[in-house]
Amino acid sequence: MHRLLKRQLEKIYANDRPDDDKWRALVALIDEAYEGFEINDLQLQRALDISSNELNQRNGALSGLLDAFPDSTATFNRKLRLLEFRVGQGLERYESLVARRATVSDLPFISNPACFEEKLKQVQETKVPCHYEYQLTQHITDPKFIEARISPFDENKLLVVFRDITEHRMLERLRREAFDRINKTEKQLRKIIEGAPVGMVLSDHKGDIFLVNAFAQRYFDFQSDQLIGQNSQQLIALSQRERYKAMSEGVLNDPTQKFVRGDFEVITSNGSKLLADIGMSSLQYDDKHWVAHTFSDITKRKRLEAELRVLASTDPLTGALNRRQFMNNANQAFAAAQRHHRHVSILALDVDHFKGINDNYGHSVGDTVLIRLVDKIESMLRKQDSLGRVGGEEFAVLLPDTSSLESIAIAERIREGLSQMDVECDVRKVQFTVSIGVCANSPSVKSVENMLDLADIALYEAKRGGRNRVVEYQPPMAKQSMSV
Ligand code: GH3
Ligand code: MG
Ligand code: MG
Repeated sequence: MHRLLKRQLEKIYANDRPDDDKWRALVALIDEAYEGFEINDLQLQRALDISSNELNQRNGALSGLLDAFPDSTATFNRKLRLLEFRVGQGLERYESLVARRATVSDLPFISNPACFEEKLKQVQETKVPCHYEYQLTQHITDPKFIEARISPFDENKLLVVFRDITEHRMLERLRREAFDRINKTEKQLRKIIEGAPVGMVLSDHKGDIFLVNAFAQRYFDFQSDQLIGQNSQQLIALSQRERYKAMSEGVLNDPTQKFVRGDFEVITSNGSKLLADIGMSSLQYDDKHWVAHTFSDITKRKRLEAELRVLASTDPLTGALNRRQFMNNANQAFAAAQRHHRHVSILALDVDHFKGINDNYGHSVGDTVLIRLVDKIESMLRKQDSLGRVGGEEFAVLLPDTSSLESIAIAERIREGLSQMDVECDVRKVQFTVSIGVCANSPSVKSVENMLDLADIALYEAKRGGRNRVVEYQPPMAKQSMSV
């Protein structure tokens, strides 16, 4: 029986309890109820113990967390009095100046207490956490910035986390300044590119065009929106795209190739081709690699260069090579023949009685004869042969890979061909002949000059033998002239 029921029954009945079944059944029911209360009570007790344990544990964990925080924390009660202040980074110097139950205006690290209090009240009312940033007034020369994060907890209490955001602010300022600088630089760069007196095209690492200046638009005869987004290879002639690709990959991937340049054929909007000197340099901007191209039109320059090359190497009257160019070609052919033990021959050719042509028909007719003579000889030569004007009416023919016999035959054909020509000047037909000296290379021939001298000796022989002849040079010991 439950101890309380037993005590109460003893109090009422002492040892004289009724002996009745109904009474006993009633007592048994009451006892059962007492036992039931006891169990409930025990369960309630246990539940309370668990809750308070848990609460203590949670409080401990929260407290530990707040202690481990690098930030400072403060809790305020519903009347906005300070309950607890845990100092963290940035507010260390205020630790000893903060008293328990202080009001907001007592706190030395709040710059504008009225505003701060307003924020606290707002969170209390709305239960919505809020941020509040401010500058500590005590640090004017060395500004310090604090971010306060106010959160509601436990009915009307407030937890405020104070974080020192000075470094963050400074980094943000530096980032903003750097960004402004980049923006400014980009604007300047665009201006420079836009106004540059050469074509400029900026493409990304895949070659896609990103920027085209006015000069390049005019140069390629494209609008900028027709070019932007296109691959820069499209601007290069098909046959040269591989070389262009290799060059742009080189400048992108090889750090030693900061700048490269090359001549390329480029294509304009109407499909015509121009010659451009393309410079390429890689640049890193906005975390990406770019290729900056400069295009200089060298079409005219190249044409001029080619014209100058022709002018510098040919005789203006006849178009035959001048003496200097002829000697260059002859030197190369002679060296190659020496190296590979091959034949090479030279013909020395002089117009017979040319003075007489000038005297009889006039100087301009003489000129025409020289021009027609060159045309005729050139029509009879192979691509690898060269014809040079080495004197007034003296010419030399270089015949690579040609033996002495073959060169005599060629000389003979030339002599014959010229002798049958009619040079028409006005109503007159002028005829003329030439004499030719032939010299083929042999171990005794030491140089091109030597060879030409020997051909001249043979030519002299031809003249001496009556002109309109071909004579091959023969060494003095076995001197024989072959005349036709
Ligand atoms: P030979 O048969 O011995 O060669 O007699 P030649 O009259 O041809 O020889 P010569 O050297 O006495 O005369 C060459 C002439 O060629 C003299 C010169 O006035 C003339 N001459 C040189 N250059 C030119 C030229 O560019 N045009 C013309 N029309 N005549 C030229
Ligand atoms: Mg002469
Ligand atoms: Mg002559």
